[in-house]
Amino acid sequence: MIVLKFGGTSVGDSAAIVRASEIIATRRERQPVVVVSAMAGVTDRLLDAAHLAGEGDLRSALTVAHELRERHETAINEAVCRPGPRGQASEAVGTHFAGLDLMLEALTLLREDGAKAEDAVLAHGELWSAEIMARALEARDVPGLFVDARQVMITDATFGRAVPDRTMLAERARAHLASAVQKGSIPVTQGFVGSTLKGTPTTLGRGGSDYTAALLGAALGATEVEIWTDVDGLMTADPRVVKNARTLPEASYDEAAELAYFGAKVLHPATIVPLVEHGIPVWIKNSRRPEAAGTKVIAKAMRSDHTVKSIAWKRGMTILNLRAPRMLGTHGFLKSMFEVFERHGTAVDVVTTSEVSVSVSLENGAPPTALLADLGALGELTVSRERSIFCVVGEGLRDTPGIPARILQALGSLPVEMISLGASKINLTFVVQDAQANEAAQALHREFFP
Ligand code: ADP
Ligand code: ASP
Ligand code: MG
Repeated sequence: MIVLKFGGTSVGDSAAIVRASEIIATRRERQPVVVVSAMAGVTDRLLDAAHLAGEGDLRSALTVAHELRERHETAINEAVCRPGPRGQASEAVGTHFAGLDLMLEALTLLREDGAKAEDAVLAHGELWSAEIMARALEARDVPGLFVDARQVMITDATFGRAVPDRTMLAERARAHLASAVQKGSIPVTQGFVGSTLKGTPTTLGRGGSDYTAALLGAALGATEVEIWTDVDGLMTADPRVVKNARTLPEASYDEAAELAYFGAKVLHPATIVPLVEHGIPVWIKNSRRPEAAGTKVIAKAMRSDHTVKSIAWKRGMTILNLRAPRMLGTHGFLKSMFEVFERHGTAVDVVTTSEVSVSVSLENGAPPTALLADLGALGELTVSRERSIFCVVGEGLRDTPGIPARILQALGSLPVEMISLGASKINLTFVVQDAQANEAAQALHREFFP
């Protein structure tokens, strides 16, 4: 068995859906299970609809739903090339749209706009694309079968970033997916979407379809996972910012995980975790150019000639600096500081310390006032916003002399705020202001990939 995941642009219109179905057909012998994202942009529009309904503007919310319906009807008419399957796709998608309209009405009446409501609305995007993909396959005599991910991806009730129950997932994947494969079908299911045991829809967080594919790959003991997207593979930097970024033929799990965690959007940050446990290789490939080699991510990958393999960065971070003179010669300061983070459930990325102060970077979004107040009680607190954390990655980076010097030299006069080297064998992280992130990325890329 293999798992094939198609991202938003890879199912973004009828031409993309046809290309994806051709790719699936070429892999038929390898017993594929297919995971799809919502059509490109649909999740954002559904989020708009949920917010409009929550604010009481049902008219505008339904207008968004109507636009989306037209877009999906067009895709069905163009991509499902036989009347039987086309009618069935249209009926199934129509039923889900009727459900969405009712849901938007209910949210309007209740003025409900929390994460739970959002998840229930967002789940529709993947339901529609999976129904269409399954029927587009069937219309080409490829035995696609829609499988509702809400039967398989059982999660807790952390709406917006639900945590899957791996034991339950393994059972359900066998019952609903492996058994269908054994009967000769090609199951097509939704990425990103899950459900609590009670049946309340959940989602795994934005970009979560990659994670679905990895979790299913592990649950099914797949021999490979293929992530089909809109670039040729994992690249030396985000090609939207660094125009001459190159595709990597190979990366290690550790390299890919660091890059994904530090902002390389091509993989959801959690994707690598389930694959490492089972040593399942993952390919990243371009659905517009299936003939291109792509990137293979495996346990042990070739080292780059440059040592540095790729550069990733996350924008919109907040840096907190806590200065406590009484840290001099005392102990327990770090403990009390991190207890504050734990109490507030706040995740910390990079940490640097000196004798009298500690700096930490936090995930995007404004830190809660209560967190700042509790930290402020421990010492003198400074908050810097709109910062980007950079991560320069490559196997062997820590043991290769000269790399840190080259990084700092390439950054020239750009002010660098925190540097962390050595905590991981394969990365060096530092922080600059968001406004200087693109310039920093381009300068580093010129240095390491001339
Ligand atoms: P999908 O919809 O297929 O999941 P995403 O938009 O989530 O696709 O991810 C693909 C995008 O990730 C690319 O278009 C590219 O701009 C961006 N990206 C950021 N960093 C990298 C990188 N290091 N390598 C490849 N792509 C990257
Ligand atoms: N459709 C979801 C999103 O836009 C999940 C995904 O594409 O991976 O975040
Ligand atoms: Mg993605």
